Amino acid sequence: MLQLKNVKKDYVTASETVQALKGVTITFRDKEFVSILGPSGCGKTTMLNLIGGLDHYTSGDLVINGRSTSSYRDRDWDVYRNHRVGFIFQSYNLIPHQTVLGNVELALTIAGVGKRERVERAKRALDRVGLAGQYYKKPNQLSGGQCQRVAIARALVNDPEILLADEPTGALDTVTSVQIMDLIKEISAERLVIMVTHNPELAMKYSTRIVGLRDGYIVQDTNPVTDAELAASKKLSAKERREARRAARAKKKERAKMSGFTAFRLSARNLISKKGRTTMVGLAGSIGIIGIATVLAFSAGIKGYVASMQDDMLSGNPVTIGETAYDLEALTGMLSDNEEEIKSEAGKVFINSIIKYIAKMQENTESTVIKNDLTAEYLDYITSMPEEYYAAMLLDYGIDLSGNVYTEYYDTASDEPTKVSVHSLTSMYSSILKETDFAEYASYITQLVPSFEQAPSNKDYISEQYDVIGEMADEYDEVMLVLDRDQRLSDLLLARLGYYTVDEFMGLINDITGSEDFAAGEHPEYFTHEELMGKTFTWYPNDAIFKKSTSAFALGPFKYFNNAADITSDEGVELRVVGILYTNEQTTYGCLSSGIYYTEALTEHILENSADSEIVEYMNEHGNIVSMNSSGLNIGISYSYEYTYAGEIKTGTAFLGEGLGIDDMMGAFAPGSGLGSGAGSGGAGMGGSSSIDITAMRTLTPRHLGGVDVANHVSIYPLSFDSKDLVTDYLDAWNADGALTYGDVTIERDDRTDIKYNDTLELVINLINGMIDVVSYALIAFTSISLVVSTVMIGIITYVSVVERIKEIGVIRSLGGRKKDVSRLFTAETFILGLMSGLIGVGVTFAVSAIASFIVYQLAGIPNIAALPLDQAGLMILLSVMLTLISGVMPARSAAKKDPVVALRTE
Ligand code: ADP
Ligand code: MG
Repeated sequence: MLQLKNVKKDYVTASETVQALKGVTITFRDKEFVSILGPSGCGKTTMLNLIGGLDHYTSGDLVINGRSTSSYRDRDWDVYRNHRVGFIFQSYNLIPHQTVLGNVELALTIAGVGKRERVERAKRALDRVGLAGQYYKKPNQLSGGQCQRVAIARALVNDPEILLADEPTGALDTVTSVQIMDLIKEISAERLVIMVTHNPELAMKYSTRIVGLRDGYIVQDTNPVTDAELAASKKLSAKERREARRAARAKKKERAKMSGFTAFRLSARNLISKKGRTTMVGLAGSIGIIGIATVLAFSAGIKGYVASMQDDMLSGNPVTIGETAYDLEALTGMLSDNEEEIKSEAGKVFINSIIKYIAKMQENTESTVIKNDLTAEYLDYITSMPEEYYAAMLLDYGIDLSGNVYTEYYDTASDEPTKVSVHSLTSMYSSILKETDFAEYASYITQLVPSFEQAPSNKDYISEQYDVIGEMADEYDEVMLVLDRDQRLSDLLLARLGYYTVDEFMGLINDITGSEDFAAGEHPEYFTHEELMGKTFTWYPNDAIFKKSTSAFALGPFKYFNNAADITSDEGVELRVVGILYTNEQTTYGCLSSGIYYTEALTEHILENSADSEIVEYMNEHGNIVSMNSSGLNIGISYSYEYTYAGEIKTGTAFLGEGLGIDDMMGAFAPGSGLGSGAGSGGAGMGGSSSIDITAMRTLTPRHLGGVDVANHVSIYPLSFDSKDLVTDYLDAWNADGALTYGDVTIERDDRTDIKYNDTLELVINLINGMIDVVSYALIAFTSISLVVSTVMIGIITYVSVVERIKEIGVIRSLGGRKKDVSRLFTAETFILGLMSGLIGVGVTFAVSAIASFIVYQLAGIPNIAALPLDQAGLMILLSVMLTLISGVMPARSAAKKDPVVALRTE
């Protein structure tokens, strides 16, 4: 039995309080057909909504089967509505985007009934109201009567104890009304039906009891429940309650909630029913994602390209350890802390301290340039590095071969070759160049063009990068010529090595400068392999070319024989050019630059033969030999040579050793410096000068002459960019704390000074990647704006969708749907939209990347310039989903909060 006890309902609005029910007391039997009659506005709907648990009374009590509902919570009402009550409305309140079957299923869906049972029960309910076979129509394909039948089926599908009908025939014609009333009448045989109507005839004809309502009071009741009936029911209700409890327990079990998946399915169906709009929203939402994903794609693509070049560039940029290294952290620190407060005060002039500035500069320079002490112990450690860590290692002893290697050349109009040292020939050509218009650049001849260098001893490593004509140098008396990237050799190198005759070289200059002072003449456009390989060079030991000065008037301790004719020694080593190397197709940057390369074996030969040479021993005792031109006199080791200019034969002077002059300071910025030569100060023009010409000052050290068998520079060529860490980790271990053990050697920390190596490639790659990152971040920051915009937009659209679907929210609530279910529904909807936006965004990005990559490949030959990594693609989709979910939180909440009564009243 259902009892209302002095139920009152007030609606409080801003302007007034409406008393819709003013104290209603009534009891309903478990099985009867009650009609509530009354004029519009008298409180009929209000009473029905209270009975159905859609709305809650202000005071009084609603007693269901002897139990008060005064302590009911939202959940209890939800369960009550879902299981005990069925609603029918005047305006049917069907959900337009669901099929007939879907609408009926909804009540079961909310109850969490499984798919198969749901369909079965929904179909049975539809069959019962006479809609067999109309399952898959949409509500707008049905007549009004059919719609109301669907609504009745929906109300009955959960087999409720109470059917509440609010003017069910209000919108129907007479004939249809009769059919619907017949149906309701039939239903009332099994349960309590309470029907609101203002058609007294229908009420009279069908119902078993008529209740009249006026102004919030009951004014008529044709068949009230008698006291006797009430008493009987009380007796009964003890037994009934037991049963009810058992039923409740059973129901509790089946009272599963609407699952997230169901919410997802329902939302998906709604979105599919609005295909056009959903697509638009998805597209709009994806714009921000496309922006960011495209930036990421290009960033990753370019980084990938840089990475692919890394290994290629590795051979040209080995890890090096020299006597000096740059501390880049100190350098960057230096750039940042140069601010100084500038004082100013009226009437005072403050001092700008340049001395302080210079001191600071000095300090900075000292802190950025690190001196490495490459000891024998350290070199032993380096050379003990496991061989599998690197491809090749090159120990450089700082030997300058140009003074010890002799080559033949043909002087002007001479049929007989002259054999001089490469140093001497270089000096001569430098003097010739100094007579031209580009005299200023003449000294670059020594710096731009390396002469003799040692090749890494790993032949396999070289042959991976180079193709060879002839064979690779292997023995100590073999050398090879390495061509540049375009498979050429420079004119200056060829001149220094004696491949040109002087006439040819003059002709070349005449051709280029047009200067009449150089005789016009033939000069070759190319050299054949035979010509290049047919040449030999001779290396002479120090003792053969440096003779102690015996004269008391000598200005230097030794005399240097730059002309081989003066050499009497038979210990020369004839160096044959056995191969010509050029980079193979796979290699962009080889480990060798253009020039002539000798073997490790020759280095060993030189070291063996130099340590106890007279000049080295002299220098070890007296220090380095400094040569310069002072007051027109050449001090140190100088030598002279002749050259022809403007038809005149002139004499030049040159010094051996490494320069300290301005030329060389400039030269420090040019590649391949270090092997400086003291090319011609020139006899002319210096006569009257009493000052020291520091541009021609040269220092010769034992190292230059192979007198030091401890390397001062090491190049390590790693196997790959990735495995470079093995090398650097090994090098870092030297600087780490504690004792260092390798092989059977242990060196205490106190016996090791830190050594800093140079890893140029790492530096360059980091710089490039850093720049890519900065640009990417900036672009992402910009494109994020569009992401924010699209997020807000999705929020607005969700909100609009909430407003549009208020009716549906009401229906779901009237069917027992929880607030949570409603909010889930909208959350699911935004989730789907977010997922869609993300997928579209990522999809478009992949397409754009593919097109961009294709175009760039066609134009520049760079593959995959834009490629979004899969993990980032996933992240983008996740981001899209998260953002739209956030944007959907507010609308979903507001949807859940909607009062079902208000929602249902909304038209
Ligand atoms: P009936 O269904 O008998 O036409 P109702 O139960 O819908 O009447 O309404 C009863 C009274 O309560 C009316 O005066 C109506 O204006 C008022 N009322 C109903 N719902 C609300 C509400 N949500 N806020 C304010 N007043 C309301
Ligand atoms: Mg009404």
